[in-house]
Amino acid sequence: MSQNFLSDLYDEYQHFSESSIKSRRFSHSDLINIINKITSEGKIEKSILGYSVEGREIFLIKIGTGKTIVLLWSQMHGDEATATSAFLDIFNFFIDSSNKFSDEKKVITKNLTLYFIPMLNPDGAEKFVRFNSVGIDINRDARALQSPEAKMLSNIVDEIKPDFAFNMHDQDYRWSVGGNDKVVALSVLAPAFDEAKTINESRSKAISLLSKLIKKFKPLTEERITRYGDDFEPRSFGDTIASKEVSTILIEAGRWKSDREKQFLRKLNFLLLLESFYMICTEKLEKDDSEYLSVPFNGKFLYDLVLRNVLIKKEENSFKVDIAINREEKFFSKDRTFYYISNIEAIGDLSTIYGIEEYDCDGLTLSEGKITEEEINQLDLGNVSVIEQLLEKEILFVKIDESEYEIKFTKLTMNLLNNKNHNIGAVEISNSANFILKENSVIKYFVLNGFLVNADKIEMFEGNCLIV
Ligand SMILES: [Zn+2]
Repeated sequence: MSQNFLSDLYDEYQHFSESSIKSRRFSHSDLINIINKITSEGKIEKSILGYSVEGREIFLIKIGTGKTIVLLWSQMHGDEATATSAFLDIFNFFIDSSNKFSDEKKVITKNLTLYFIPMLNPDGAEKFVRFNSVGIDINRDARALQSPEAKMLSNIVDEIKPDFAFNMHDQDYRWSVGGNDKVVALSVLAPAFDEAKTINESRSKAISLLSKLIKKFKPLTEERITRYGDDFEPRSFGDTIASKEVSTILIEAGRWKSDREKQFLRKLNFLLLLESFYMICTEKLEKDDSEYLSVPFNGKFLYDLVLRNVLIKKEENSFKVDIAINREEKFFSKDRTFYYISNIEAIGDLSTIYGIEEYDCDGLTLSEGKITEEEINQLDLGNVSVIEQLLEKEILFVKIDESEYEIKFTKLTMNLLNNKNHNIGAVEISNSANFILKENSVIKYFVLNGFLVNADKIEMFEGNCLIV
């Protein structure tokens, strides 16, 4: 028996982590390969639960032989992959042949039967979108049951009659913890099953388990845990399953600092689920809502970048404003990664809302960038000094011949425009964020596709600029 299951697991995580997955946009065929590998020794059972609209297999993985039944599913929204990778880590934990945590494993597999559905929406995962291939939000189809994916989940619930259900998601990463400027790492909920938000015995157990989890995970997340909104939504699975006297728990992974691929939140999911299994086996889940009620709800939407006190000049007038910018991730199917497209969301007094990144631009004046007159070929853009020379001339957009480029985005600190589209757009709401910030006509910063670049330190970006 390890001294402290959670902290020992934290230290040993790398031993179990599925090393072939390092990002969020893995495909259904990646999943098949890993599941085949993991189940090849017969230590855990695999079956096919059914097929998606486009005919992709949806798996059911069974671990343990205990009396208490636990059902878990992930990625019913195709672009919410964090828990799927955590499930793979958990499968590795159970098939691991070293002696690590053998006592805890025995306790869990003797007392629980765990059923996992990793990637319930493989068609959505393939395109990295929320919906299934008909455009149905599976988590609003629990009542109508029109999609095969929703039917499958509904049927397995009726068949195995779980005691506990874990509904695993990723939430928008811009939610704040209550009213402050911290970004939420994990959001949890024991969903209501009626308008009155009644707490029956099964919901009380879910709340009690969450209270214990929150207590343990507050320090690990630097108190970035919230409660997810608890309004009753009869079309969603959490609320529907909770109405069948199943202790139901929603887990939403948000964001952790600069970890774009959410690998730390994947680890937290791994820890949180194994700790939950162990606590279900070893602790009495008597009424305890203290910690659950103590954490705030998800608060406000934050912006990706807020520039404070920027001076905008129009004719003879000048205006001191804050500028809020968001960056949207766009799926790049060729190598299953993403690039960003920025957007100016708000201009004016934004003192009541925070940015995930903020800069005080007091004393800086906004000025619009320029576009090159001539096309520049790919080789000329290959090094930073060429880019620096263009930026010095206040050029933020370069015309290129798109046919020379194999990819749709670049790591250059420069926007590339193809031959067809030379409309760069003014600095205004809903346009992309590209402009220059000057102090007494000396360039201090460039804002390139929503990223702030120090004029004294031009570097390549990660998936930043794009060919539009
Ligand atoms: Zn979701």
